[in-house]
Amino acid sequence: MEPQITARPDHPVSRKQISASALKVLYALKDAGYTAYLAGGGVRDLLLGRTPKDFDVATNATPEEVRKVFRNCRLIGRRFRLAHVFFRDEIIEVSTFRAPTPPDDETLQNDNSTFLSKDGLVLRDNLFGTPEEDALRRDFTVNALFYNITDYSLIDYVNGRRDLDNRLIRVIGNPEQRFTEDPVRILRAIRFAAILGFSIEPSAREAIRQHAARLEGCSSSRLYEEIQKLISCGKAEKVFALCCELNVFEHIFPELGAWLNAPDGEGKTHWLEKSFKQIDRWRAAGIQIDPALPFALIFGEYHEWVAAQLMRDEKLPHAEALQEATHRHIRQLDRIRIPKSVTHHIAEIMTGQPRFLKTTPKNVHRMMNHRCFLDAFLYFKFAALTAGRHAAELDWWETQRKSRQRLTA
Ligand code: ATP
Ligand code: MG
Repeated sequence: MEPQITARPDHPVSRKQISASALKVLYALKDAGYTAYLAGGGVRDLLLGRTPKDFDVATNATPEEVRKVFRNCRLIGRRFRLAHVFFRDEIIEVSTFRAPTPPDDETLQNDNSTFLSKDGLVLRDNLFGTPEEDALRRDFTVNALFYNITDYSLIDYVNGRRDLDNRLIRVIGNPEQRFTEDPVRILRAIRFAAILGFSIEPSAREAIRQHAARLEGCSSSRLYEEIQKLISCGKAEKVFALCCELNVFEHIFPELGAWLNAPDGEGKTHWLEKSFKQIDRWRAAGIQIDPALPFALIFGEYHEWVAAQLMRDEKLPHAEALQEATHRHIRQLDRIRIPKSVTHHIAEIMTGQPRFLKTTPKNVHRMMNHRCFLDAFLYFKFAALTAGRHAAELDWWETQRKSRQRLTA
C-alpha cells in the first residue's frame, strides 16, 4: 500500500519540538545510510500539540547495526530486541522495523522466531520488516505515524491522521485478533482514550467487551506496569468510567468486581469514583504520593466491608479485622504483581485506621511520628469525607496537624 505522505509545509511538526537527543539519533542513523523515522506516541502528541513523554525511533538498521552507530547504546529486551541510546537526561528507544505477527499457525512452523500460545497470545516475535509492516503491527492508527528525518515529511500507512482529526482510537487490523494477540492493548486503548479525550471506535469497543477476560491470562508484571500507568495518567476517573462501561474492571480486579456487581452492589461505585477523582486531584496538584495510597483508596471500601464481616463472624477486633481483610485480598492479587513493599504499605495504612478514632494527646504523638502517618491520615480524611463519617475526629486531627506545623515552622 502506498502511504499518504504529507510534506513539511503541510503539517505542524517542527524539529524545534523534538528533543536534541532524539534529533541526534535520527541524524546519526540517516548519516550512516539508514532510514530513520520518529515513531509512536511522540509523533501523535506533537500533532496534537501535546508535549511527548518520550521519543521513539524506528529504523531499518538491525539492533546490532544500531549499536555500531552509537557508543552510548545498549541492546535490551527478550520479547523484542531494542536499542537504548543513552544521553545525559534522556534515553532514546530505537527499534528496527518489525514484521506483523504471522496470522496463522502454518507460518509459524517454518519460523523459529515467533511463538504463539494455543489461544493466540504472542509469546515472542523478533522478525524484522518493512516500514509498512512496522506501521501495521502497531496497536492503534494514531500511534502508527512516522516523521521522516530525511525530508521532515509525515508518512501515514493507516489513515492515522484522519483518526487524529476525528479523535478516534481505532485498532489497526481486526480488533478481535489484535486484542487476542495482546490483551494489554485493551488497557492501552482505554488509557489513550482517557488521556487524549478520544472515543474508542465501535468495533474496537465491542471487541474489548468480548475479550476483556483475556486480561486475566496476561503477564502479571506487564499488568502491574499498565495499571500503574492507568492510575497515574491524570485521567483515572475517566479510565474507571471506561473500564466499567466496557466490562474491563472486573477482569483487572476480580474480587472487587464481583463485590461491585453483586445484587446489593448499588451505590458502591460512589467510593470508587471518588477514589479515582482524588488520585487525579493529587496528581494535578503535583503532590507526590506513595504508590500504595491509590490502591489503599481503590480497595478501601471493599477491605472495610470484608473486615466488618470478619468482626461479625470471627469476632476479630477492628484493627485485626482490617489487617486480615487486606492480607486476604492481597494474597489473591498475585495476578497483578504488586511489589511486596507496596502491599505491606497498603496493609499498614488500613490497620492504622481505628487509631484515628482515639483522640488523646498521647496517641497524637505516637501516631504523628509513625512513618506511615501521612498516608494513613490521607486515607482517613478521604474516607471520612466520602462516607460522611467521623467528622469530629477528622476536625480534631486537622487541628493537631496544624498546630504541629506551626510548632515546626
Ligand atoms: P506514551 O505516551 O505512553 O509513551 P506511546 O504511544 O509512545 O505512548 P509506548 O508504550 O511508548 O506508547 O509505545 C511506543 C509505540 O509502540 C506505540 O505508539 C505503538 O505504536 C507501539 N506499541 C507499544 N505497545 C504496543 C503493543 N502492545 N502492541 C502494538 N504496538 C505497541
Ligand atoms: Mg512512548
